[in-house]
Amino acid sequence: MNSAKRGIPMLLDKGVAAAKPIVVLGDVKRVYLPLSYGDQRRCRPVVKDFDTVMAGSVLAEPIDLDDVPLISSVTGVVAGMSEMFHPLYGQLTCSAIDAMLFESPTDPVTPTMPEDVDADTIMKCCKQAGIVDELDGVQLHLKLADWAATGTTPCLIADATEPEPFQSSAYAVLRAHSKPVQFGLRLAALAAGIPATRIALQTSYSRGRKLAERFDPNDIHSIRRRRYPLFDKEPAEYRGQCGFIGVQACLALYRAVTDGTPQTSTVITVTGDAIDEPRNLLVPFGTPIEAALQACGVDKTVGLLLLGDALSGVEITDRSLPILPGMTCLLAFSDPIKKRMRSCIGCGQCAAVCHKGLLPYEIARRYENLQYERLSALEPQECDACAACSAVCPAHRPLVQTVQQAAHSMGTIFVDWGDE
Ligand code: SF4
Ligand code: SF4
Repeated sequence: MNSAKRGIPMLLDKGVAAAKPIVVLGDVKRVYLPLSYGDQRRCRPVVKDFDTVMAGSVLAEPIDLDDVPLISSVTGVVAGMSEMFHPLYGQLTCSAIDAMLFESPTDPVTPTMPEDVDADTIMKCCKQAGIVDELDGVQLHLKLADWAATGTTPCLIADATEPEPFQSSAYAVLRAHSKPVQFGLRLAALAAGIPATRIALQTSYSRGRKLAERFDPNDIHSIRRRRYPLFDKEPAEYRGQCGFIGVQACLALYRAVTDGTPQTSTVITVTGDAIDEPRNLLVPFGTPIEAALQACGVDKTVGLLLLGDALSGVEITDRSLPILPGMTCLLAFSDPIKKRMRSCIGCGQCAAVCHKGLLPYEIARRYENLQYERLSALEPQECDACAACSAVCPAHRPLVQTVQQAAHSMGTIFVDWGDE
């Protein structure tokens, strides 16, 4: 099949949230901020109960010197510590902070590209500001250092494509902070030794086209394909060679370099048919999901709450979980999607939509039949977990999970005993 036909035809429904300016949620009563990284990498907390902390002050220092410090998003008082399981971060120790003040970061009226900064200075500012790239949840300075070390990346792309139907936080940030994002991208490229930059936009909806007018055409890589997932985010001359960075990470880097501002907040799209006022909200890190939902007028009968986008988001039920770096979309729908899994009917739709050209049904069959030695020929490790195959499967097979498990099982003989 022609690869251009792969993927799921997508009607974009960014509508109301994308049309409005970003709203600052500044009156959060309590935030929950991690004192560890959530993947067993430990930090050294420097606060205790009843301490007063300032916005931007360090809550926990890294033990591994390559890591970033963990920073308070608000001025307030430490009310205690709590353990929680976060679906994106795993097991976390968090400090509960009773917030007295949160100030959203600001930019100069006329932003300018910082002059006379070198790569070392940018990297130092990036690390001190604790910047995490919202695209993948990775500490930004580590990504920049990797690109600088390999020295083979010709172009760095600020990814504002948002190919799924509902999310518009990248668009909102790009619209509100066009120049700072652009300068932040250039600073990132300078630190990583990457010669070219582009901002990738899906311009199939009119707002995208208007946004593109704010930039030099040479700065924009405009994509018109309306299928999920997008696999042509790179300009033809750099295909397969680009690095990607989130627009919020670009903005945070610009602020870190220009005035030393740490990254303390995220813009998150809150939408879905259970939300009265869909919005892009700027929230301090650690804001409970419940506070963000209430700020947008949540319907009490939420049947499905998704953290992340509609295709590959994670279903959650606990609304007290905090919004942390890397979270940019919260979807609330009134009806739970109850799907009954059935046997594969061999329709081939999963293979037809896979933008990596994989055969998800066959990978799943071999994996479920414990034929691990026959998996490698099907290259499950190429799967990027876009979830398009799961979305189209009429038998509601959990294909993305199975293909990912197959990718991680290669060469390993084990028996899956289920949940017991
Ligand atoms: S999740 Fe993996 S196997 Fe499924 S469509 Fe995406 S890349 Fe292909
Ligand atoms: S889409 Fe589902 S039912 Fe169809 S071949 Fe793939 S796994 Fe089987």
